[in-house]
Amino acid sequence: MVVPPVDAHHRPIDYLRLSITDRCNLRCVYCMPSHGVPRLDHSQILSYEEILRLTRIAVKMGITKIRITGGEPLVRRDVTYLCENIAALKGVSSLSLTTNGLLLGQYAAALRRAGIRRVNISLDTLRPSRFSSITRVGCFHKVWAGLEAAQKAGFSPIKLNVVVMRHLNDDEVEEMALLSLRNPFHVRFIEFMPFPSSASRKQFVSSDEIVERLSRLGRLVPCESRSNNGPARYFRLEGALGKIGIISPISHHFCPSCNRLRLTADGKLRTCLFSNAETDLRDLLRQKASDEELVQVIGQAIASKPEKHTLDPEVLHKCMGRPMVRIGG
Ligand code: SAM
Ligand code: SF4
Repeated sequence: MVVPPVDAHHRPIDYLRLSITDRCNLRCVYCMPSHGVPRLDHSQILSYEEILRLTRIAVKMGITKIRITGGEPLVRRDVTYLCENIAALKGVSSLSLTTNGLLLGQYAAALRRAGIRRVNISLDTLRPSRFSSITRVGCFHKVWAGLEAAQKAGFSPIKLNVVVMRHLNDDEVEEMALLSLRNPFHVRFIEFMPFPSSASRKQFVSSDEIVERLSRLGRLVPCESRSNNGPARYFRLEGALGKIGIISPISHHFCPSCNRLRLTADGKLRTCLFSNAETDLRDLLRQKASDEELVQVIGQAIASKPEKHTLDPEVLHKCMGRPMVRIGG
C-alpha cells in the first residue's frame, strides 16, 4: 500500500474530488448566480483520458478515495465509462458520486455496475413547489424517483445533503431529519457557504442552531466517530434506521483534519475549497508533461495546502472567486 502524501501541517492527503463538468441541469440559488455562469468551452474541459491520467497519477501518489462531482456529473456523456475506469485502478478503496438526483432514475443501476459504491443526493426540501423555487428548474418527483432507483440498485447508506438557509428551508429541518427514522438514510445538514450565488450571507444558519432545533425531536445520540466520516458529525434519533449528519464548514471548521484535493472540470487543482489558489494541470498535460513532472507539481501543491480558512464569512465572501458549480462541492 502506498502511504498518502502529507502536507506541511502533517495532514495525510488521500481524498480527491473530481469535478467532471461545469454544466448542470439545475440552478440552485445557493450555488449559481441568477444570471447563470458562463459555460466553459468544450476545449477547456478535461477529456476523460486526461482525467484518468491525472487520477492514475494521484492514486500512485497515495490517493485512495475518489468522489465524482460537478456541476452535475450525470449530465456528462458516458459518465459510467469514467467510473468503470477509475474503479478499476488498483489502490482506489472508495469511489463515490455526488448528484442532484434528477437523472439517477436512469443511471443508478449502471453506476453501481460501474463501481460507484456510495451516492450523495442533494435534496433541500420535501415540498415540490419549494424544490422548484430553490433549484429554479427542478422537479422534486424526479429526484425522489432517482432516490428510489438508487435504493433499488443497492446503494446504502444513501446520504442526503441539505443546505440549510434562513427563510428558504430552515423550517423543514425537523421534517427532513425525521426521514432518518424509518429510512436508512444519512440526512446531512450543511451550513451555507458564501460563494458567489443568488443567496445572501444573511441567510446563513449555524449548525449550533440546527442542532438546537433537532434536539426538540428527541435525544440525539452521538454516533461513534469513524475515520472515514469526513467532516460530518453524526447523531441518531433513538430507534432510527438512519443517521443525522451535521457539517459546519463555517462555524466549526474541519481544517485540522482536511484530507482533500479538488480537481476542477477545467483541470485546476485546488487544495482548499476556500482559497483561490489553483495549480493548472491542464496546461501541463497538454504541454506533454511527463508523469514525473506532474507528480512533482501535484506534490508541491499539496505541500502548500493552506493550514486553515478564516472563520469570518465577510472575508470568505471576498476571497472566493468561483461559484460552487465551477469548483465541485
Ligand atoms: N450537482 C451535484 C449536487 O448538487 O449534488 C454535485 C455538485 S454540487 C456543487 C455539490 C454539493 O455542493 C451539493 O450537495 C450542494 O448542495 C453543495 N453546495 C452548493 N453550493 C453550496 C453552498 N453555497 N453552500 C453549501 N453547500 C453548497
Ligand atoms: Fe447544480 Fe448541484 Fe449546483 Fe444545484 S448544487 S446548481 S444541482 S451543481
